[in-house]
Amino acid sequence: MTTDTTSKPLDARQRAMLEAMGITLWEAAVDTKKERFSDVDIDKLAINSIVNSAAQVPTPVAAPLPSQPVPTVASPPAAPRASTANATPPGAALQPLPQGIAQMDWLQLQATVSSCQACALCEGRKNTVFGTGQASTEPAQAPQADWLIVGEAPDENEDSQGEPFVGQAGQLLDNMLRAVVSNGKPLGRQSNVFIANVLKCRPPANRNPSPEELAMCQPYLQRQIALLQPKIIVAMGRFAVQSLLGSTEPLGKLRGRVHQMPSSAITTPVIVTYHPAYLLRNLPDKSKAWADLLLAMQTLQAPA
Ligand code: URA
Repeated sequence: MTTDTTSKPLDARQRAMLEAMGITLWEAAVDTKKERFSDVDIDKLAINSIVNSAAQVPTPVAAPLPSQPVPTVASPPAAPRASTANATPPGAALQPLPQGIAQMDWLQLQATVSSCQACALCEGRKNTVFGTGQASTEPAQAPQADWLIVGEAPDENEDSQGEPFVGQAGQLLDNMLRAVVSNGKPLGRQSNVFIANVLKCRPPANRNPSPEELAMCQPYLQRQIALLQPKIIVAMGRFAVQSLLGSTEPLGKLRGRVHQMPSSAITTPVIVTYHPAYLLRNLPDKSKAWADLLLAMQTLQAPA
């Protein structure tokens, strides 16, 4: 596999991104008179550098630049960051899941999640983890995000900070997202991606979510999706797949095609991929996750 040998070398950010994804680069002598790599070229270079997987990897299509300037509001109204902001005293009585979730606006939903006592996970949490993305200028409205990434559940770091994917798996996720360019911009939680989990509270000792917990939290994620109206959903890991698709099939069998949420008014395409924490332990599968992100990109850009 050869790459363009006449462009400038990658800058430090691009190198770090591709290195974090386990992608080996080959670069030849530099001719500084030639044009820089465009973002799309960077993507192609990354794809071409994935040994033995190029045949299965769809090539991203350059999308037009957005005609409107993107607002630069930093974060959505964040879940409180104080270390025990949403803690429920142990032994406090559980309460039924609140009524009317399907009619709530973004702020009401966020407030409802942060005071939820519908399952015992509320007893061990420091914070609920609602999700993160670029805030809307109108707080009651959902952030603007074409992409929704759905993970599993908060871990210790996320529980402490009230934000999803802030640990090592989150760094990998951010690096992978940054390497994908959508509408002329790298993907990221501060621009065009919203990141949420199927569970909003940390399971004790990071154990797997139980089927009851998944079912209890599902209306929150469903309402988030209905309000966000993302153009593409990426389900990361088996619990995201269980919650969104109701499937317990192995991920390997679900990857590589476009899914729909069953019996749901939501028609957003869903792409299945590995969880970043799994990828940290199984480095060779990073190239498959990269192919999944590109399938998501291709699906988003395909004409309706
Ligand atoms: N793993 C997840 O699935 N979500 C997080 O927020 C952190 C780790």
